[in-house]
Amino acid sequence: MFAAPSVSAFNPPRRILMGPGPSDVYPQVLAAQSRPTVGHLDPLFVAMMDELKSLIQYAFQTRNEMTIAVSAPGSAGMETCFVNLVEPGEKVIVCRNGVFGDRMRQNVERIGAEAVMLDFEWGTAVDPEVVEAALKAHPDAAFLAFVHAETSTGALSDAKTLCALAREHGCLSIVDAVTSLGGVELRVDDWGIDAIYSGSQKCLSCVPGLSPVSFSPAAVAKLKARKSPVQSWFLDQSLVMGYWSGDGKRSYHHTAPVNALYSLHEALRLLAEEGLENAWQRHRDMHLLLRQGLGSMGLEFVVAEQSRLPQLNAVYIPQGADDGAVRKQLLDNYNLEIGAGLGALAGKAWRIGLMGYGARRENVALCLRALAEVLN
Ligand SMILES: *Cc1c(COP(=O)(O)O)cnc(C)c1O
Repeated sequence: MFAAPSVSAFNPPRRILMGPGPSDVYPQVLAAQSRPTVGHLDPLFVAMMDELKSLIQYAFQTRNEMTIAVSAPGSAGMETCFVNLVEPGEKVIVCRNGVFGDRMRQNVERIGAEAVMLDFEWGTAVDPEVVEAALKAHPDAAFLAFVHAETSTGALSDAKTLCALAREHGCLSIVDAVTSLGGVELRVDDWGIDAIYSGSQKCLSCVPGLSPVSFSPAAVAKLKARKSPVQSWFLDQSLVMGYWSGDGKRSYHHTAPVNALYSLHEALRLLAEEGLENAWQRHRDMHLLLRQGLGSMGLEFVVAEQSRLPQLNAVYIPQGADDGAVRKQLLDNYNLEIGAGLGALAGKAWRIGLMGYGARRENVALCLRALAEVLN
């Protein structure tokens, strides 16, 4: 026998999460998660799942039949899109303007497909002119992949224009909307997005660990026409849909994370109640309030104004400030978490998130007061 470790119950303090995610979770969402667990084929649960699907469709602004929440975090949503659609030997144009574009490359290469990389300076948006030239130079490319909201830098790219270009050149678009969903304008059907994935823990303010994804009819046709089986059994959407597609013939695929799905249902219900456009506006309003305060403290944004994300504010660390010490004081003295810089911006920038439930006045005020006190 190994001795039983002596451990007491884990009781975290209530932090205020203003980093790049996870974001502050709505109290109602936390409450939803603690409701009684029911069987994942229970008729009541199945009815909840039908509602959940329509809520995800609303958040994405799509009628796509193949719209589900993957039972894993945003990274698994990314992988779901790539492994289901891209086959070995195919060519994918991948835009890289931060950390997450590079993860797309890694997904493509692990499939045995070819990633044509388009690099953009960190902190800038993907340039549609560069993308158009690449689409012309690679008429054999099957996909265009890009990150709508680059969380590593705070840059927003023009998904509408990029997806239109992809379609014009016979490519399917794969879009990372992990940080954009619920925080900025996003219209899957209107913009002709073919495959999109998001995450529960950013602007939806749900608990981490779920990834809403949606495939257009063209993406579904591509999946159905595959020559090789999807390399991942768990993420193979042709199998998962057996569980998500109703009509009383739901079959077991994996045990759904029942309670986590209650929380996503509640988070999306709150988003629907607020209204998508109101949520977008609230993120914008809170960003402007924060920007004003940061500006008067002399902090400078990494991203130029026209492509700045309201929900992820990357600012340069001021001269003389100790990155780690400042963040530690914010956490220890104010229970406030802000994000460190990532990749090329590590040690150079802070990332202040205003995501979902976190995008409200008292958070902005606390963040500005705490930063001012710590920096003095
Ligand atoms: C957070 C994030 C991811 C990864 O999501 P996880 O839930 O951490 O796996 C992917 N892309 C972007 C743009 C993100 O911000």
